[in-house]
Amino acid sequence: MLEVLNPATEEVLKSLEQATEDDADAAVARAKRAFPEWRDVEPADRSRLLRCLADALESEQENLARLESENTGKPIGDSRGEMAMVAETFHYYAGMPERLLGDTIPVSGGVDFTFREPLGVVALIVPWNFPLTIASWKMAPALAAGNTLVLKPAELTPLSALEFERIALEAGIPEGVVNVVVGPRSRVGKRLVEHPDVAKVAFTGSTEVGKDIMAGAAGTIKRVTLELGGKSANVVFADADLEKAAASAPVAVFGNAGQDCCARSRILVQRGVFDEFLSLMEPAVTGMRVGDPFDEETEMGPLISADHREKVAAYVLEDAPVAIQGEAPSGAGFWYPPTVLAPVSNEDKAAREEIFGPVVAVIPFDDEEDAIRQANDTIYGLSGSIWTENGARALRVARRIETGVLSINSNTSVRVPTPFGGMKQSGVGRELGPHALDYYTEIKNVYLSTEEG
Ligand code: NAD
Repeated sequence: MLEVLNPATEEVLKSLEQATEDDADAAVARAKRAFPEWRDVEPADRSRLLRCLADALESEQENLARLESENTGKPIGDSRGEMAMVAETFHYYAGMPERLLGDTIPVSGGVDFTFREPLGVVALIVPWNFPLTIASWKMAPALAAGNTLVLKPAELTPLSALEFERIALEAGIPEGVVNVVVGPRSRVGKRLVEHPDVAKVAFTGSTEVGKDIMAGAAGTIKRVTLELGGKSANVVFADADLEKAAASAPVAVFGNAGQDCCARSRILVQRGVFDEFLSLMEPAVTGMRVGDPFDEETEMGPLISADHREKVAAYVLEDAPVAIQGEAPSGAGFWYPPTVLAPVSNEDKAAREEIFGPVVAVIPFDDEEDAIRQANDTIYGLSGSIWTENGARALRVARRIETGVLSINSNTSVRVPTPFGGMKQSGVGRELGPHALDYYTEIKNVYLSTEEG
């Protein structure tokens, strides 16, 4: 049995039967049977069904948000925002079935045109930090393009995915189109990756597991998209609005208790304003309200598990210079306080590895060249921010930072209509925006001869 915990209280929320390889096979078989019918649903009808699903998700927003907060420990306000995004994602892709256009290509002797066709059964494997949100980024474009799917949520956070399966069916999505399998990575996850009837795996999770997924998918030449880890830089130049940057920096890393692939977990600060920046940041860190996820004032909840807290704490115990630390509750729950390490060298472990907790490394830099060099001196390339009042500098630096998503004078990374994904070892492919559809369709080219006789 799988015991699903509330990380804020350590209470068991639910005990679930764990799926086996046979259950994974059965889910793939259901999705395979449902595929031809779903593929052939008229585009306008597929749009209508996805809109019904988006409306149903909106009606269930509060229930889903409460469930997600119980299972992940997220502040309830954050969960509400995430569930609104889940519905928005389905609304956005509901508009896409009639926009999957092909090309007409001038060739001699005939007419050449392309179709964009669905792949078939897609397996979606997602992590525990944004359980339903990240699943929706995959499910909505997959379904809009006419694929059927098997979703494997993380073992720690399966509850919202199970609710989604029910909501989809009640909203009129035909049986077998959406299948959720809750089971261990070693059995269910691996089976889906290797299954000969699965055409594609869309994975979000750690870079280490991403490598296994890529290798496992090679046996059947599956299409793979990977959204992996990050160690993103928040680059603060001396000419920035320092007060604004310092107030935003804690949010950019301690949001979701730092369990965010886009967390700006390295803050690079120009040497001349290094101490001033830390002083400006201090009140936002020590004043951060860490506690009960259902208290509307809470800004940060617990970590996801005891094991994960131990892993996070080890980075701080290893001789790291703690410059600022906030407070966290004691007692039941996997709490850890917001922690700022400074000054840190970009060579230090805390600056190189993804800690995935509320711990940020603040690193000095000399000038623009040095900032770009240090920001890029990492295996990752997911996200990041640049803070400067000099527009030309902002654009110069933005062009040279090796990362899939950047913001200037802001700490946000994700919007439904814009592409999201990583460079280097942060991933392969893009989610969201119209771009995601490229990863759930195959292009077929057809030539029609117009020659006589
Ligand atoms: P994880 O890699 O341990 O697990 C992710 C999912 O993969 C889970 O469902 C797990 O059961 C499954 N899995 C694990 N091993 C598998 C295997 N060998 N075969 C098939 N499935 C397997 O990640 P996590 O601990 O759940 O999440 C944290 C990680 O996710 C962090 O590294 C974070 O950066 C990353 N992440 C990335 C993004 C992004 O968009 N780039 C978003 C969120 C999280």
